[in-house]
Amino acid sequence: MIVKLRPSRLEPIFDARPWGVNSLAPLFPEQNNLKEKIGEAWLTGEKCRFADGPFAGSTLGEAWAQMPVECTGTKLRPEGAFPILVKFIFTDDKLSVQVHPDDDYASQHEKQAGGRGKTEMWYFVSARPRSEILFGLKPGVERDSFRRAIDDATVENFVVRVPTKARDAIFVPAGTVHAIGAGFVLCEIQEQSDITYRVYDYNRRNAAGETRALHIDKAMDVIRFGEQEGGKIEPVTIERGPLSETYLAACRYFVTERWEFSESISQKTSPEHFDLLISIAGRGLIETGEEKIAYAPAQVWLMPAALGAYQIVPQERTEFLRTFVPGGLDEYVRQLGERGVSESQLTQLVHK
Ligand SMILES: [Zn+2]
Repeated sequence: MIVKLRPSRLEPIFDARPWGVNSLAPLFPEQNNLKEKIGEAWLTGEKCRFADGPFAGSTLGEAWAQMPVECTGTKLRPEGAFPILVKFIFTDDKLSVQVHPDDDYASQHEKQAGGRGKTEMWYFVSARPRSEILFGLKPGVERDSFRRAIDDATVENFVVRVPTKARDAIFVPAGTVHAIGAGFVLCEIQEQSDITYRVYDYNRRNAAGETRALHIDKAMDVIRFGEQEGGKIEPVTIERGPLSETYLAACRYFVTERWEFSESISQKTSPEHFDLLISIAGRGLIETGEEKIAYAPAQVWLMPAALGAYQIVPQERTEFLRTFVPGGLDEYVRQLGERGVSESQLTQLVHK
């Protein structure tokens, strides 16, 4: 199959959630005065459709199954689901206290649900003052006491509260107990998986008086007790000409960087993997050899691996996230070393 190599934009799918909001402005200004509270905008779900490019009209799932190596990259074969799920999340209330399984557990116990675990990261676009998240167990919390806390509805006392503001980023390995708090807009980047085990939902009831299901036994199977991993990211920023490049996290499932610039930048894709560009702020043009394509906030672009060189020409200050599945972490670590990231900074950024 021969396809035209150009950036392709995916249309979001909006999902209602009890903790969501009635307006998604300013990211999605047309999603305003909503009757139903929307909590999530899925940008790279399997059912999201391409708005343009060679796969226009197809869902990401359909297109992924037939993408040639020029799109996927030489190190990624289109087996199973598209590997990275990107969402924007809008919270007016706190989310349930929850945990996700890792790949081993999901492949044994969650085949029906895709069999993939969920390691994720959050990048905070905006935050109300004094907002916080719950992340990781407090030191010394053990299995028995945590299990009792679920029954006693005191789980919140056993999890660390982390004050969180715009531009913070958090890395959430599978097995870590967590809850996103109220008052945030954030971009979530994760394995393509929708498996969540709720341990506590604040005894909330919907209008019909129903509570949401809990999944306590499975949660107890997968929660990591003892030393906690991940948490607030110590980003590393390197100025490269007009581009301020910030390294946020690297793991086997995804690498994520923030790019900020007010003048044109030149970039190049790697033949090994596709890139996803997620626009957070700013407008301008993505220019390839043949085309000039306008970008605006809250869009996601699939950049084919073999695209090669391209420019981004901003009309105003622009903030993008770039995320991709690394062929191997060693090569990325070597590149960061070349750019001046120190050994000790690398140990913070890279999650093996
Ligand atoms: Zn989660």
